[in-house]
Amino acid sequence: MNIGVIGGGQLARMLALAGYPLGLKLICLEPNANCPAAEVAEVIKGDYADPKQLQALADRVDVITYEFENINLSALAAITHPPIYPAINALAVAQDRLSEKTFFNQLDIPTTQFAAINSLEELYSAARKIGLPAVLKTRRWGYDGKGQVVIHAMDELEPAWLQLQHQPLLLENKVPFQREVSCLAVRSTLGETAFYPLVMNQHQAGILRLSQVVTEEDEVAAAARDYVGRILNEWNYVGVLAVEFFEDKGCLFANEIAPRVHNSGHWSIEGAVSSQFENHLRAVAGLPLGATTANGYTAMVNFIGSVPPLATILKIQGVHCHLYGKEARPGRKLGHATICSVDKNSYSQQLQALCALAGFENSV
Ligand code: AMP
Repeated sequence: MNIGVIGGGQLARMLALAGYPLGLKLICLEPNANCPAAEVAEVIKGDYADPKQLQALADRVDVITYEFENINLSALAAITHPPIYPAINALAVAQDRLSEKTFFNQLDIPTTQFAAINSLEELYSAARKIGLPAVLKTRRWGYDGKGQVVIHAMDELEPAWLQLQHQPLLLENKVPFQREVSCLAVRSTLGETAFYPLVMNQHQAGILRLSQVVTEEDEVAAAARDYVGRILNEWNYVGVLAVEFFEDKGCLFANEIAPRVHNSGHWSIEGAVSSQFENHLRAVAGLPLGATTANGYTAMVNFIGSVPPLATILKIQGVHCHLYGKEARPGRKLGHATICSVDKNSYSQQLQALCALAGFENSV
């Protein structure tokens, strides 16, 4: 079976690696011929928004999926065959923070307070209503904390507006969260559904640095599964879905949807019975899903901007290292490492060593 992927970054690379043992061949559409997926999959060099290139991909594959959200919807909608999973309606909602939050609220999933902002006057009035501190965000094309300004005082509204004004914006209250968590689930074309354990995430400068699998089952984990389950059902969703939440005093506030495999699920390559990458492929290919249970205590650390020497990383007992073959640049995700242990003490020691090596201070 041939699976088409829009995009050829590290997510496509890890999808291709998961497809190999199952005999699933990936073909990626990607403008950069030296992309991370190119070493392990065929790449059609072309623009994602070019209908001809999309059709060239469609003509060669049995199903199409994607590894990022910022795809031109009308170009994608013109593809009548093969099926595209996750479906375009999920992508349309995930592309706009306002649609995302409105959609969450329609399903009775709590969010921050929010308001669409199209003028400085609207920003003043929303800030008075929502209160400060608040976060002004671009509605579209934001990722890894880009296109966001935190506002603490009324006199910071105008500078924030001047910085971001050329795009549709959204103001939301800043949540004094105790934890950020994400819930990943997968649903197949056959309607089979499975949830990965809840993951606790730590960011630095808006970029994910550390994901730790939450081993304790509690009401928060159950609420996250309930919310994500509502989304899967509402959309008859197919593929892996990730939802990020802020947790404040035991309550979850949905922040973002990713209708794709997600960085906070990379731990599952070695840390779960079946990884998010394998299950995404199984789901879109109409195959039975694999178990999503964790193989013990497990965590993933991202290498951002630079990668420590491989020999140093591999000195950590039990570590699994994934490098994406990308050129080093500040703020760029270049690879990740996962630890996984059935012994809690070894896990904690290995995690501290890995965080120290990756230049990240683990605050939990
Ligand atoms: P986002 O692009 O919305 O995922 O934001 C990136 C990161 O910025 C989040 O993971 C949070 O750490 C922080 N952040 C964004 N929005 C808020 C908010 N409303 N309250 C508190 N922190 C936020």
